[in-house]
Amino acid sequence: MQSSKPHAALLSSPGMGHLIPVLQLGKLLVTQHNFTVTIFVVASHTSGGEWEVLRSSMTSPFCDIVELPPVDISGLIHPGAAVVTVISVMMRESKPALRSAISAMKLPPTLLIDDLFGTESLEIANELGIPKYVYMASNAWFLALTLYVPTLDKLVEGEYVEQTESFRVPGCRPVKPEVVVDPMLDRTDQQYSEYLRIGIEFPKADGILVNTWEELQPQALAALRDVKLLGGLAKNHPIYPVGPLTRPVGSPSSRTNKQLFGWLEKQPHESVLFVSFGSGGTLSYEQMNEVAWGIELSQQRFVWVVRTPTVTNRDAAFFTSGTGADDDGPSNYLPEGFVDRTREMGLLVPVWAPQVDILSHPSVGGFLSHCGWNSTLESITNGVPMITWPLYAEQRMNATLLREELGVAVGPEALPSKKLVGRDEIAKLVRKIMVDEEGFGIRAKVKELKRSAEKALSKGDSSHRALSLFAEVCEVQQNA
Ligand code: UDP
Repeated sequence: MQSSKPHAALLSSPGMGHLIPVLQLGKLLVTQHNFTVTIFVVASHTSGGEWEVLRSSMTSPFCDIVELPPVDISGLIHPGAAVVTVISVMMRESKPALRSAISAMKLPPTLLIDDLFGTESLEIANELGIPKYVYMASNAWFLALTLYVPTLDKLVEGEYVEQTESFRVPGCRPVKPEVVVDPMLDRTDQQYSEYLRIGIEFPKADGILVNTWEELQPQALAALRDVKLLGGLAKNHPIYPVGPLTRPVGSPSSRTNKQLFGWLEKQPHESVLFVSFGSGGTLSYEQMNEVAWGIELSQQRFVWVVRTPTVTNRDAAFFTSGTGADDDGPSNYLPEGFVDRTREMGLLVPVWAPQVDILSHPSVGGFLSHCGWNSTLESITNGVPMITWPLYAEQRMNATLLREELGVAVGPEALPSKKLVGRDEIAKLVRKIMVDEEGFGIRAKVKELKRSAEKALSKGDSSHRALSLFAEVCEVQQNA
């Protein structure tokens, strides 16, 4: 019998950072609104390892998860193509598989929700005659820039990064040229045309869900809704801030990691710095050495998720982790004697750690992070102040938001992607958020945001209301 509640098909692009918020959205639609949810995931070589664990823990009883068959895109991209290009091409090539998987479903979906890289699949919803939405699993300021980039494309001559003035995204905090998102770094690269296309396709959706909350980004959200500002671009397309949607505490790997949690249990309250660069971030060898020295000089306790450094001087990688296979052993690349000297002070975790469980532990008092949006939300919702270390994607914007607008983070003076950050500066930053009086205000501010996030998600408050409104609209559309 046909369910009277909506059946949402959610499409996630590959990569843990994309999957996690899609899974959380799916789970809430099921648990709070009785939707049926099928999540389509585009497989990649990140599948395996942690993804398998995550999937097995999420499949039942919440959603069906369908992994679309891997696509061979080797002939379609040049070697060394940027991540945005790789993901965009994978999503494009997966469209036929998505179409046939949907048409083979016994209970067809009544709406489609694509993520940032899935906007080309909105046309499948058109073919089926069902409503279509986009889920921006990041922040509202980045969403505003994404919607505005087709306009900037017409207004700005030359490379964005060579401009001397910030970009005025109407109604929003201006975007400094050095913090633009990766696809805007080089306008001649394919990743730029893919991003531009995404900016054009977003407003074709019936609405946009975004993983933030009203009280965190009132200015950007107001701009997105104001017809005289960005609302002109997303006219009649409601914006639903439904966040923060984060992975819950209690991941399966946290239960097996007895040594780590046993050690954390013995440390004083908020005394441990957590260091991690997301699901795929890596540092150069030189930078890793400076980070190690900086932590040691700060004399603070730490848990550091380590990965073999990149061979080139270019920080940042993607699609490398989640399999536990890419670590040479920390003593091969950390400063000589570091492991022995810091044995009492900290723990090194190779490749992957149960991040949310660590951040929620009372002994953790700071997070040196690459500022991926999931990591950012996980830090805020656990009241942990941050040191910003943006590497790729929209992380430079996230870092700016955290430091300049929200006041919950400190960071190096120069961007780590531009210049080697030295050990003394790192030690100072660590001490600032962990022990110095100067950092007390930052800690107080992040605790305030933690409470604001909890409130937003509670029944009747902003994000809960936004998701309820979205659910109501979907039901009305279904029964129309
Ligand atoms: N993550 C984790 N353990 C790790 C590295 C990452 O659990 O060792 C999780 C992290 O908690 C977050 C996600 O992977 O939920 C990373 O997403 P984010 O948006 O922060 O960054 P990305 O990896 O997409 O750059």
